[in-house]
Amino acid sequence: MNRKEGLVIKSTGSRYTVLLDDSTMMLCRIRGRIRLDDIRSTNPVAVGDEVIVDVQDDEGVISEVKSRRNYIIRKSTNLSKESQILAANVDQAVLIVTINYPITTRVFVDRFIAAAEAYGIPVRLIFNKIDRYDLPHQRMLNEWRELYEGIGYPTLAVSAKKQEDLDEVKQLLKDKISVLNGHSGVGKSTLINRVEPGLNLKTAEISEIHQSGRHTTTFAEMHPLSFGGYIIDTPGIRGFGLIHIEKEELYHYFKEIFNAADGCRFNNCTHSNEPGCAVKEAVINGEIAQSRYESYLSILLNKNEKYR
Ligand code: GDP
Ligand code: ZN
Repeated sequence: MNRKEGLVIKSTGSRYTVLLDDSTMMLCRIRGRIRLDDIRSTNPVAVGDEVIVDVQDDEGVISEVKSRRNYIIRKSTNLSKESQILAANVDQAVLIVTINYPITTRVFVDRFIAAAEAYGIPVRLIFNKIDRYDLPHQRMLNEWRELYEGIGYPTLAVSAKKQEDLDEVKQLLKDKISVLNGHSGVGKSTLINRVEPGLNLKTAEISEIHQSGRHTTTFAEMHPLSFGGYIIDTPGIRGFGLIHIEKEELYHYFKEIFNAADGCRFNNCTHSNEPGCAVKEAVINGEIAQSRYESYLSILLNKNEKYR
C-alpha cells in the first residue's frame, strides 16, 4: 500500500476527486472512521481538504483529513442538527457588488463580511458594472470603496462586460482558493468567463433549486484557474451569509466595532442601548460609519433576515 498526499477538488457525496501531490488525479472513496474537527457533519470530507490517500491496486481511499484552516458549512434544515461542510481551507471570500443593476444593499455586504470573519476567511470586494454608473453612483462607489478599504477589506472596481483586460481580478485570484458570491445578476458568470474563458459556474442556478428545499446534492467542485488558483463552485455557497452567529459575539465580526468596544462601560455591552457605550460614541464622532452600525443593529435585532 502506498500513502500519498493530495487535495480534494471535487465531491459528489460518496466519491471524491483528489489531486495527488504527484500531479495525478484519483477518484477516491472513504473508508472507516475519519478524524474530524469538532463538528457533526453529514460529509466528513469536502473540497479544499488536504488528505492522505491510501493507494492500493489503483484504488484510492481517503484515510485522513488534515486539520483545516477554516471551513464553510451549511446548517441542515432538518432536525438532525448536522451540518454539511461545503468547502475547506478557503483563502478568500470574494463578493461581487453592484451599486445598481441590481442594487446590492449595505446590510447584505456587511452580513457577508461578518459571516466570512466568523469563518476566518479574508474578504475582498469587487464592484462590477462601473460602466453603467452615473455620477451619483460613481460617488457612492468611491464612498463604499473608501469605507471598506479603511476597515481593511481590499476592493476593486471593474466592468466585466466592457473591460478587455481584467488583470487586477486575475491578480486577486491568482494562486488562491476563492469562493465567489453576490446577488444573481451582478455579473459573476460574466466576470469568471472573462478571466477564465470557458469556465461556467453552476453556483447560481443550482442554489435556486436549493432555496426551495427540493434538492440536497452534495456536489461541489474546485475549478483550477489557468493562471493559478481555484474557484470553488458549490450550490450551497449562497447560504454563505446565513451562518448562525450568537448575538453576543456578532460584534466580533465587525472589526471596527470590535476595536471600539474596548471602551464600553459594560463588558457584556451589545452596543445597542446600553449607557456608556464606546461604539455608539464612535458612531456619533464619525469614527465608525453609520451604515456599518446600522447593519450591525439590523442583524443583531434580526430585522433583516432577508438578504437583499
Ligand atoms: P450572475 O447572475 O451574477 O452570474 O450575472 P451574469 O454574469 O449572468 O450577468 C447578468 C447580466 O449583467 C448579463 O446580462 C451581463 O451581460 C450583465 N453584465 C455583467 N457584467 C457587466 C458589466 O460590467 N457591465 C454591464 N453593463 N453589464 C454587465
Ligand atoms: Zn458598547
